[in-house]
Amino acid sequence: MKLVFATNNKNKIKEIKHLLDNSLEILSLEDIGCFEDIPETADTIKGNALQKAEYVYTNYGYNCFADDTGLEIEALNGEPGIYSARYAGEQKNAEDNMNKVLEKLQGITNRKAQFKTVIALIIDGKQTCFEGIAKGEMTTEKSGSEGFGYDPIFKPNGYELTFSEMDLDLKNKISHRAKATLKLIDYLK
Ligand code: IMP
Repeated sequence: MKLVFATNNKNKIKEIKHLLDNSLEILSLEDIGCFEDIPETADTIKGNALQKAEYVYTNYGYNCFADDTGLEIEALNGEPGIYSARYAGEQKNAEDNMNKVLEKLQGITNRKAQFKTVIALIIDGKQTCFEGIAKGEMTTEKSGSEGFGYDPIFKPNGYELTFSEMDLDLKNKISHRAKATLKLIDYLK
């Protein structure tokens, strides 16, 4: 079965392909010639995931899925949430975003946070959503060189390592995206 994953984020594609077997052929946006910025203007993570999947299904005619992820920090009332990608501005720079989080959390002892991923799947017009959550805490400094986004400053519960200090095998066992992806795989079976 052929499915478009509505992203050009190579890290996300790597993480998801790592979990899937060969019965699914995953195409990226680049593979189908979609180079425009897909709008993400909904006010929820689920809304944004659906918006991206609907865009590809409607404009390109492929069965597809899209994921949207937000980092929700308790002491910041759920920020950055749906603004995670552009928290420090439209340049969508991971270093700037992490610096802003660390600055806002300076002197705050409650570091509890979670990543939430929603995957929206559209097959022959039918929409289904899958959610995955990874709970943890924000560190006080960046650590690690793997992964992407906020990985260097997020330590999942039960581990003394940030996502960025883990290899992909471990992150993929416990991450928000892995949990949502496993639900997607179950459904596709
Ligand atoms: P989106 O799902 O691509 O819109 O991601 C929103 C923001 O969260 C971006 O800044 C991503 O870099 C970040 N992000 C998404 N997934 C992860 C992850 O697994 N770890 C760390 N940051 C992530």
